[in-house]
Amino acid sequence: MFRLDNKVAVVTGGASGIGLEISRSFAKQGATVHIFELNMDQAEREADLIIAAGGQAYIHKVDVSKQAQVRKAIDKINQVQAIDILVNNAGIAHIGTAETTTEEDLDKIYNINIKGVYNCIHCVIPHFKKNGGGSIINLASVAATVAVPDRFAYSMAKGAVYTMTMQVAKDFVKENIRCNSISPARIHTPFVDGFIASKYPGKEAEVFQQLSETQPIGRMGKPAEVAAMAVYLASDEAAFLTGTDYLIDGGFVKLNTP
Ligand code: NAD
Repeated sequence: MFRLDNKVAVVTGGASGIGLEISRSFAKQGATVHIFELNMDQAEREADLIIAAGGQAYIHKVDVSKQAQVRKAIDKINQVQAIDILVNNAGIAHIGTAETTTEEDLDKIYNINIKGVYNCIHCVIPHFKKNGGGSIINLASVAATVAVPDRFAYSMAKGAVYTMTMQVAKDFVKENIRCNSISPARIHTPFVDGFIASKYPGKEAEVFQQLSETQPIGRMGKPAEVAAMAVYLASDEAAFLTGTDYLIDGGFVKLNTP
């Protein structure tokens, strides 16, 4: 079950954290993986490791916030292979309230976390239609549906990803295009280590512990736990699933009662 043999997948931000684990898991299940990244050194290293383990991986220097770059890469892949799966994983963090978030920060979050997702969907849909369908998996967050302190711009963006997922699923259901999102709570990745180090220097261990305890299960999630859901959503076993958001959150949303 859950094999992805003969499937071709694009994973944005696929060389770090959750995206990396999705790239590895997809390749292990038989898919050919195309990683869209800014960090090409890391992408090259990780793709080499996937290939050494018997998988198929290619890397593309693509900034998802730039539609021309996204279009060029997607069209190039489709000249050789039909894309079956798009994982919109690339995203950046931001801390701030509506009062402390600057216009520049808001624009940056919009361009990468919202427009980046739209750019990839916009450019892949014509190919999916021509090829008889496809599966889109978006990385949203628990912040899309519950208030998380100090995450104004980030939550706004993830809320947009959550609603974009339903909208795309609705508009293309007749074209055999499925679109779902995954909403993790805190997952231990470089993304988390990076913002703890920059925002709470000297208090890293204490903040790490606090963030772990916000999940009722008492720890952060693992990238592999998110990747397992992505494998399922991309697989033929999930053919009846579309327009839905899946929490992977150690009880964060439903069990954190006051
Ligand atoms: P990460 O920082 O470890 O990896 C993100 C990758 O995206 C990096 O390799 C980076 O180079 C790439 N990237 C960033 N901007 C890009 C751009 N414009 N174009 C192409 N690539 C770009 O992050 P992560 O923790 O693995 O998070 C992945 C996704 O999951 C994000 O969308 C994030 O919002 C979401 N998420 C993460 C958590 C968490 O706790 N880690 C929780 C909920 C949701």
